[in-house]
Amino acid sequence: MPDDMMDRAARLLHARQARLAKGEPVSLPLEMTSVYHLAGDPAGHKQYGRFDNATWEATEELLGLLEDAACVAFPSGMAAIAASLLAFAQSGDRILLPSDGYYTPRVLADRFLTRLGLQFDLRPTASFLDGGFDGYRIVFAETPSNPGLDICDLQAVSRVAKAAGAIVVADNTTMTPFGQRPLDLGADIVVSADTKAANGHSDALFGHVTTRDDAYLAALREWRKLSGSIPGPFEAWQVHRGLETLEVRFARMCDNAEMLAPRLRNHKAVSALRYPGLADDPSHNLARAQMDRFGFLIGLTLKDADAAEAFIERCSLLLPATSFGGLHSSAERRSRWGDDVAPGFVRLSVGCEPPGPLWAAIEDTLDTL
Ligand SMILES: *Cc1c(COP(=O)(O)O)cnc(C)c1O
Repeated sequence: MPDDMMDRAARLLHARQARLAKGEPVSLPLEMTSVYHLAGDPAGHKQYGRFDNATWEATEELLGLLEDAACVAFPSGMAAIAASLLAFAQSGDRILLPSDGYYTPRVLADRFLTRLGLQFDLRPTASFLDGGFDGYRIVFAETPSNPGLDICDLQAVSRVAKAAGAIVVADNTTMTPFGQRPLDLGADIVVSADTKAANGHSDALFGHVTTRDDAYLAALREWRKLSGSIPGPFEAWQVHRGLETLEVRFARMCDNAEMLAPRLRNHKAVSALRYPGLADDPSHNLARAQMDRFGFLIGLTLKDADAAEAFIERCSLLLPATSFGGLHSSAERRSRWGDDVAPGFVRLSVGCEPPGPLWAAIEDTLDTL
Protein backbone atom coordinates (compact mmCIF):
# COMPACT_ATOMS: atom_id res chain seq x y z
CA MET A 1 0.00 0.00 0.00
CA PRO A 2 1.53 3.37 -0.98
CA ASP A 3 2.37 5.74 1.88
CA ASP A 4 -0.11 8.21 0.50
CA MET A 5 -2.97 5.73 0.95
CA MET A 6 -1.83 4.95 4.49
CA ASP A 7 -1.88 8.67 5.14
CA ARG A 8 -5.41 8.92 3.77
CA ALA A 9 -6.50 5.95 5.90
CA ALA A 10 -5.20 7.73 8.97
CA ARG A 11 -6.86 11.01 8.03
CA LEU A 12 -10.14 9.19 7.38
CA LEU A 13 -10.29 8.10 11.01
CA HIS A 14 -9.91 11.68 12.18
CA ALA A 15 -11.85 13.50 9.45
CA ARG A 16 -14.79 14.31 11.69
CA GLN A 17 -12.69 15.37 14.64
CA ALA A 18 -11.25 18.31 12.72
CA ARG A 19 -14.58 20.14 12.88
CA LEU A 20 -15.80 19.05 16.31
CA ALA A 21 -16.57 21.66 18.93
CA LYS A 22 -16.30 20.84 22.61
CA GLY A 23 -19.30 18.80 23.75
CA GLU A 24 -20.28 17.50 20.32
CA PRO A 25 -20.70 13.77 19.75
CA VAL A 26 -17.61 12.00 18.44
CA SER A 27 -19.66 9.51 16.46
CA LEU A 28 -21.46 10.70 13.34
CA PRO A 29 -25.02 11.91 14.04
CA LEU A 30 -27.74 10.28 11.97
CA GLU A 31 -29.71 13.07 10.31
CA MET A 32 -33.19 11.63 9.89
CA THR A 33 -35.29 14.35 8.33
CA SER A 34 -37.18 14.98 5.12
CA VAL A 35 -37.54 18.71 5.73
CA TYR A 36 -35.34 21.47 7.12
CA HIS A 37 -36.34 24.60 8.97
CA LEU A 38 -36.58 27.00 6.07
CA ALA A 39 -38.13 30.39 6.63
CA GLY A 40 -37.85 33.11 4.00
CA ASP A 41 -35.16 32.99 1.31
CA PRO A 42 -34.12 29.32 0.88
CA ALA A 43 -30.82 30.09 -0.89
CA GLY A 44 -27.72 28.81 0.86
CA HIS A 45 -29.54 26.51 3.28
CA LYS A 46 -30.43 22.85 3.39
CA GLN A 47 -33.91 22.72 1.86
CA TYR A 48 -35.27 19.24 1.46
CA GLY A 49 -34.21 15.65 2.07
CA ARG A 50 -33.99 14.77 -1.63
CA PHE A 51 -31.44 17.54 -2.15
CA ASP A 52 -29.18 17.36 0.88
CA ASN A 53 -28.42 15.35 3.97
CA ALA A 54 -25.58 15.86 6.42
CA THR A 55 -25.06 12.11 6.95
CA TRP A 56 -24.65 11.53 3.19
CA GLU A 57 -22.19 14.39 3.09
CA ALA A 58 -20.05 12.87 5.83
CA THR A 59 -19.92 9.53 3.99
CA GLU A 60 -19.17 11.27 0.70
CA GLU A 61 -16.35 13.12 2.42
CA LEU A 62 -14.67 9.86 3.46
CA LEU A 63 -15.07 8.26 0.03
CA GLY A 64 -13.84 11.45 -1.61
CA LEU A 65 -10.83 11.52 0.70
CA LEU A 66 -9.89 7.97 -0.35
CA GLU A 67 -10.29 8.68 -4.06
CA ASP A 68 -9.05 12.29 -3.98
CA ALA A 69 -12.20 13.36 -5.81
CA ALA A 70 -15.72 14.64 -5.29
CA CYS A 71 -18.22 11.95 -4.42
CA VAL A 72 -21.98 11.54 -4.99
CA ALA A 73 -23.65 8.81 -2.93
CA PHE A 74 -26.42 6.57 -4.27
CA PRO A 75 -28.75 3.99 -2.74
CA SER A 76 -27.05 1.00 -4.43
CA GLY A 77 -24.24 0.13 -6.77
CA MET A 78 -26.72 -0.15 -9.63
CA ALA A 79 -28.15 3.29 -8.85
CA ALA A 80 -24.60 4.65 -9.14
CA ILE A 81 -24.07 2.81 -12.43
CA ALA A 82 -27.43 3.93 -13.83
CA ALA A 83 -26.51 7.52 -12.94
CA SER A 84 -23.14 7.22 -14.66
CA LEU A 85 -24.92 6.18 -17.86
CA LEU A 86 -28.18 8.14 -17.79
CA ALA A 87 -26.72 11.46 -16.66
CA PHE A 88 -24.54 11.53 -19.79
CA ALA A 89 -25.93 9.42 -22.62
CA GLN A 90 -28.16 10.84 -25.32
CA SER A 91 -30.31 9.16 -27.91
CA GLY A 92 -28.11 7.84 -30.71
CA ASP A 93 -25.06 7.32 -28.48
CA ARG A 94 -23.15 4.03 -28.34
CA ILE A 95 -21.99 2.58 -25.06
CA LEU A 96 -19.37 -0.12 -24.55
CA LEU A 97 -19.85 -2.55 -21.67
CA PRO A 98 -17.79 -5.54 -20.56
CA SER A 99 -19.27 -8.85 -21.71
CA ASP A 100 -17.89 -10.61 -18.63
CA GLY A 101 -18.46 -8.05 -15.86
CA TYR A 102 -21.28 -7.79 -13.36
CA TYR A 103 -24.30 -8.77 -15.44
CA THR A 104 -26.92 -6.25 -14.32
CA PRO A 105 -25.56 -3.26 -16.33
CA ARG A 106 -25.94 -5.38 -19.48
CA VAL A 107 -29.54 -6.22 -18.59
CA LEU A 108 -30.22 -2.55 -17.81
CA ALA A 109 -28.83 -1.56 -21.20
CA ASP A 110 -30.78 -4.25 -23.00
CA ARG A 111 -34.11 -3.67 -21.27
CA PHE A 112 -34.15 0.09 -20.86
CA LEU A 113 -31.33 2.00 -22.58
CA THR A 114 -32.06 0.59 -26.03
CA ARG A 115 -35.64 1.89 -25.70
CA LEU A 116 -34.24 5.38 -25.29
CA GLY A 117 -32.39 5.08 -28.58
CA LEU A 118 -29.01 4.09 -27.17
CA GLN A 119 -26.97 1.26 -28.58
CA PHE A 120 -24.54 -0.86 -26.68
CA ASP A 121 -21.78 -3.30 -27.50
CA LEU A 122 -20.12 -5.92 -25.32
CA ARG A 123 -16.43 -6.76 -25.20
CA PRO A 124 -14.43 -9.15 -23.01
CA THR A 125 -12.32 -7.46 -20.34
CA ALA A 126 -9.17 -9.37 -21.27
CA SER A 127 -9.25 -7.88 -24.82
CA PHE A 128 -11.01 -4.63 -23.95
CA LEU A 129 -8.60 -2.48 -25.96
CA ASP A 130 -8.98 -4.51 -29.15
CA GLY A 131 -10.89 -2.57 -31.79
CA GLY A 132 -10.35 0.82 -30.14
CA PHE A 133 -13.13 3.09 -28.94
CA ASP A 134 -14.08 5.23 -31.93
CA GLY A 135 -17.77 6.08 -31.96
CA TYR A 136 -18.42 5.45 -28.26
CA ARG A 137 -19.88 8.08 -25.97
CA ILE A 138 -19.30 6.02 -22.82
CA VAL A 139 -16.71 3.30 -22.29
CA PHE A 140 -17.57 1.36 -19.14
CA ALA A 141 -14.83 -0.91 -17.77
CA GLU A 142 -14.82 -3.27 -14.82
CA THR A 143 -11.44 -4.55 -13.73
CA PRO A 144 -10.83 -7.08 -12.33
CA SER A 145 -14.04 -8.36 -13.88
CA ASN A 146 -16.57 -10.02 -11.66
CA PRO A 147 -16.58 -13.02 -11.57
CA GLY A 148 -13.86 -14.07 -14.08
CA LEU A 149 -11.09 -11.81 -12.64
CA ASP A 150 -9.75 -10.72 -16.00
CA ILE A 151 -8.07 -7.32 -16.08
CA CYS A 152 -7.84 -4.54 -18.63
CA ASP A 153 -5.15 -1.87 -18.73
CA LEU A 154 -7.01 1.12 -17.29
CA GLN A 155 -4.35 3.61 -18.25
CA ALA A 156 -4.36 2.53 -21.90
CA VAL A 157 -8.16 2.24 -22.02
CA SER A 158 -8.53 5.72 -20.56
CA ARG A 159 -6.00 7.26 -22.91
CA VAL A 160 -7.39 5.72 -26.10
CA ALA A 161 -11.05 6.14 -25.16
CA LYS A 162 -10.65 9.77 -24.11
CA ALA A 163 -8.76 10.53 -27.31
CA ALA A 164 -11.77 9.07 -29.15
CA GLY A 165 -14.06 11.47 -27.26
CA ALA A 166 -15.59 8.96 -24.85
CA ILE A 167 -16.29 9.31 -21.14
CA VAL A 168 -14.45 6.54 -19.30
CA VAL A 169 -16.32 4.98 -16.38
CA ALA A 170 -14.63 2.35 -14.20
CA ASP A 171 -16.46 0.06 -11.79
CA ASN A 172 -14.04 -0.31 -8.86
CA THR A 173 -16.26 -2.46 -6.63
CA THR A 174 -13.96 -5.46 -6.50
CA MET A 175 -10.87 -3.48 -5.46
CA THR A 176 -12.04 -0.50 -3.35
CA PRO A 177 -9.81 2.61 -3.30
CA PHE A 178 -7.31 0.71 -1.16
CA GLY A 179 -6.65 -1.71 -4.01
CA GLN A 180 -6.90 0.50 -7.06
CA ARG A 181 -7.66 4.13 -7.94
CA PRO A 182 -8.95 4.35 -11.52
CA LEU A 183 -9.11 8.17 -11.50
CA ASP A 184 -5.33 8.23 -11.01
CA LEU A 185 -5.04 5.92 -14.03
CA GLY A 186 -7.02 8.33 -16.19
CA ALA A 187 -10.67 7.28 -15.83
CA ASP A 188 -13.19 10.14 -15.79
CA ILE A 189 -15.64 8.55 -13.41
CA VAL A 190 -15.49 5.77 -10.83
CA VAL A 191 -18.57 3.86 -9.74
CA SER A 192 -18.67 1.41 -6.87
CA ALA A 193 -21.11 -0.87 -5.08
CA ASP A 194 -20.35 -0.02 -1.45
CA THR A 195 -22.82 -2.76 -0.63
CA LYS A 196 -19.75 -4.99 -0.91
CA ALA A 197 -16.41 -4.42 0.82
CA ALA A 198 -16.74 -0.70 1.52
CA ASN A 199 -19.60 -1.30 3.93
CA GLY A 200 -18.34 -4.80 4.57
CA HIS A 201 -20.94 -5.93 7.09
CA SER A 202 -23.53 -7.30 4.64
CA ASP A 203 -26.27 -5.16 6.16
CA ALA A 204 -26.80 -2.27 3.73
CA LEU A 205 -27.00 -1.47 0.04
CA PHE A 206 -25.13 1.63 -1.08
CA GLY A 207 -23.17 3.00 -4.01
CA HIS A 208 -21.19 6.01 -5.05
CA VAL A 209 -19.79 7.85 -8.04
CA THR A 210 -16.60 9.91 -7.92
CA THR A 211 -15.12 12.29 -10.45
CA ARG A 212 -12.61 15.15 -10.62
CA ASP A 213 -14.54 16.90 -13.41
CA ASP A 214 -16.82 19.69 -12.17
CA ALA A 215 -19.24 19.42 -15.09
CA TYR A 216 -19.66 15.67 -14.61
CA LEU A 217 -20.11 16.23 -10.89
CA ALA A 218 -22.85 18.80 -11.46
CA ALA A 219 -24.64 16.45 -13.89
CA LEU A 220 -24.47 13.57 -11.40
CA ARG A 221 -25.78 15.69 -8.54
CA GLU A 222 -28.60 17.01 -10.70
CA TRP A 223 -29.44 13.48 -11.85
CA ARG A 224 -29.69 12.30 -8.25
CA LYS A 225 -31.84 15.21 -7.19
CA LEU A 226 -34.25 14.97 -10.12
CA SER A 227 -34.48 11.20 -10.46
CA GLY A 228 -34.87 10.77 -6.70
CA SER A 229 -32.16 8.11 -6.60
CA ILE A 230 -31.10 9.09 -3.09
CA PRO A 231 -29.50 6.96 -0.37
CA GLY A 232 -31.16 6.59 3.01
CA PRO A 233 -29.39 8.48 5.81
CA PHE A 234 -29.15 5.33 7.91
CA GLU A 235 -27.41 3.42 5.12
CA ALA A 236 -25.03 6.34 4.72
CA TRP A 237 -24.32 6.11 8.44
CA GLN A 238 -23.66 2.37 8.18
CA VAL A 239 -21.25 2.86 5.28
CA HIS A 240 -19.51 5.67 7.17
CA ARG A 241 -18.90 3.23 10.01
CA GLY A 242 -17.81 0.52 7.57
CA LEU A 243 -15.30 2.84 5.90
CA GLU A 244 -13.59 3.44 9.22
CA THR A 245 -12.43 -0.20 9.23
CA LEU A 246 -12.05 -0.74 5.48
CA GLU A 247 -8.28 -0.44 5.47
CA VAL A 248 -7.77 -3.17 8.08
CA ARG A 249 -10.50 -5.39 6.67
CA PHE A 250 -9.23 -5.09 3.11
CA ALA A 251 -5.67 -5.86 4.20
CA ARG A 252 -6.77 -9.00 6.09
CA MET A 253 -9.00 -10.12 3.22
CA CYS A 254 -6.22 -9.72 0.64
CA ASP A 255 -3.69 -11.41 2.96
CA ASN A 256 -6.08 -14.32 3.41
CA ALA A 257 -6.72 -14.58 -0.34
CA GLU A 258 -2.97 -14.57 -1.07
CA MET A 259 -2.53 -17.33 1.50
CA LEU A 260 -5.42 -19.42 0.16
CA ALA A 261 -4.90 -19.11 -3.61
CA PRO A 262 -1.75 -21.25 -3.99
CA ARG A 263 -3.00 -23.82 -1.46
CA LEU A 264 -6.33 -24.13 -3.22
CA ARG A 265 -4.68 -24.50 -6.58
CA ASN A 266 -2.54 -27.36 -5.29
CA HIS A 267 -5.53 -29.24 -3.93
CA LYS A 268 -6.54 -32.20 -6.05
CA ALA A 269 -10.26 -31.30 -5.96
CA VAL A 270 -9.58 -27.96 -7.70
CA SER A 271 -9.33 -28.20 -11.48
CA ALA A 272 -8.69 -24.53 -12.27
CA LEU A 273 -8.09 -21.37 -10.30
CA ARG A 274 -8.00 -17.67 -11.07
CA TYR A 275 -6.37 -15.18 -8.74
CA PRO A 276 -4.48 -12.13 -10.03
CA GLY A 277 -1.89 -12.58 -7.28
CA LEU A 278 -0.54 -15.84 -8.70
CA ALA A 279 2.56 -15.20 -10.80
CA ASP A 280 1.28 -17.31 -13.71
CA ASP A 281 -2.28 -15.95 -13.70
CA PRO A 282 -3.16 -14.22 -17.01
CA SER A 283 -4.07 -11.07 -15.02
CA HIS A 284 -0.89 -10.96 -12.95
CA ASN A 285 1.27 -8.47 -14.84
CA LEU A 286 -1.48 -5.90 -15.27
CA ALA A 287 -2.50 -6.41 -11.65
CA ARG A 288 1.04 -5.62 -10.53
CA ALA A 289 1.10 -2.54 -12.72
CA GLN A 290 -2.17 -0.93 -11.69
CA MET A 291 -3.33 -2.44 -8.38
CA ASP A 292 -1.86 -2.09 -4.89
CA ARG A 293 -3.19 -5.46 -3.77
CA PHE A 294 -4.47 -8.51 -5.64
CA GLY A 295 -7.92 -8.42 -4.08
CA PHE A 296 -10.03 -10.80 -2.03
CA LEU A 297 -11.89 -12.67 -4.78
CA ILE A 298 -10.77 -16.08 -6.00
CA GLY A 299 -12.34 -17.99 -8.85
CA LEU A 300 -12.01 -21.71 -8.40
CA THR A 301 -13.41 -24.48 -10.54
CA LEU A 302 -14.40 -27.81 -9.04
CA LYS A 303 -15.33 -30.95 -10.97
CA ASP A 304 -18.98 -30.12 -11.58
CA ALA A 305 -22.00 -28.29 -10.20
CA ASP A 306 -22.65 -30.91 -7.53
CA ALA A 307 -19.09 -30.75 -6.21
CA ALA A 308 -19.29 -26.95 -6.11
CA GLU A 309 -22.61 -26.94 -4.26
CA ALA A 310 -21.34 -29.57 -1.80
CA PHE A 311 -18.21 -27.52 -1.13
CA ILE A 312 -20.21 -24.37 -0.45
CA GLU A 313 -22.80 -26.11 1.74
CA ARG A 314 -20.42 -28.25 3.78
CA CYS A 315 -17.75 -25.71 4.65
CA SER A 316 -18.58 -24.27 8.07
CA LEU A 317 -16.62 -21.06 7.42
CA LEU A 318 -18.23 -20.25 4.09
CA LEU A 319 -21.48 -18.38 3.89
CA PRO A 320 -23.55 -19.56 0.92
CA ALA A 321 -24.65 -16.21 -0.47
CA THR A 322 -24.59 -14.03 -3.52
CA SER A 323 -22.68 -10.77 -3.22
CA PHE A 324 -19.16 -10.51 -1.79
CA GLY A 325 -16.84 -8.34 0.24
CA GLY A 326 -18.27 -9.06 3.69
CA LEU A 327 -16.38 -9.86 6.87
CA HIS A 328 -17.52 -13.45 6.51
CA SER A 329 -16.00 -15.52 3.73
CA SER A 330 -18.72 -16.44 1.29
CA ALA A 331 -19.02 -18.45 -1.87
CA GLU A 332 -21.34 -18.84 -4.79
CA ARG A 333 -21.66 -21.00 -7.87
CA ARG A 334 -22.00 -18.27 -10.45
CA SER A 335 -23.46 -20.24 -13.32
CA ARG A 336 -26.70 -20.42 -11.34
CA TRP A 337 -27.22 -16.81 -12.50
CA GLY A 338 -26.21 -17.54 -16.06
CA ASP A 339 -22.65 -16.13 -15.87
CA ASP A 340 -20.54 -17.55 -18.67
CA VAL A 341 -18.41 -19.79 -16.43
CA ALA A 342 -18.07 -23.55 -15.88
CA PRO A 343 -20.89 -25.22 -13.87
CA GLY A 344 -18.32 -26.04 -11.15
CA PHE A 345 -16.99 -22.45 -10.96
CA VAL A 346 -17.15 -20.97 -7.47
CA ARG A 347 -16.58 -17.30 -6.72
CA LEU A 348 -14.94 -17.24 -3.34
CA SER A 349 -15.08 -13.97 -1.44
CA VAL A 350 -12.39 -14.22 1.20
CA GLY A 351 -13.29 -12.57 4.49
CA CYS A 352 -11.63 -11.55 7.74
CA GLU A 353 -11.47 -14.88 9.55
CA PRO A 354 -8.10 -15.74 11.10
CA PRO A 355 -6.11 -17.50 8.37
CA GLY A 356 -5.38 -20.80 10.15
CA PRO A 357 -8.96 -21.86 10.88
CA LEU A 358 -10.11 -20.57 7.50
CA TRP A 359 -7.71 -22.75 5.53
CA ALA A 360 -8.36 -25.72 7.84
CA ALA A 361 -12.12 -25.52 7.25
CA ILE A 362 -11.72 -25.14 3.50
CA GLU A 363 -9.14 -27.91 3.19
CA ASP A 364 -11.22 -30.32 5.30
CA THR A 365 -14.20 -29.68 3.06
CA LEU A 366 -12.25 -30.10 -0.17
CA ASP A 367 -10.92 -33.39 1.17
CA THR A 368 -14.48 -34.74 1.34
CA LEU A 369 -15.23 -34.08 -2.34
C1 LIG B 1 -22.76 -5.91 -6.73
C2 LIG B 1 -22.16 -5.14 -7.84
C3 LIG B 1 -22.83 -4.06 -8.38
C4 LIG B 1 -24.22 -3.66 -7.97
O1 LIG B 1 -24.32 -3.27 -6.65
P1 LIG B 1 -25.73 -3.22 -5.88
O2 LIG B 1 -25.43 -2.48 -4.64
O3 LIG B 1 -26.17 -4.64 -5.69
O4 LIG B 1 -26.70 -2.51 -6.78
C5 LIG B 1 -22.17 -3.35 -9.39
N1 LIG B 1 -20.96 -3.71 -9.83
C6 LIG B 1 -20.30 -4.76 -9.33
C7 LIG B 1 -18.95 -5.10 -9.85
C8 LIG B 1 -20.89 -5.52 -8.32
O5 LIG B 1 -20.24 -6.58 -7.86
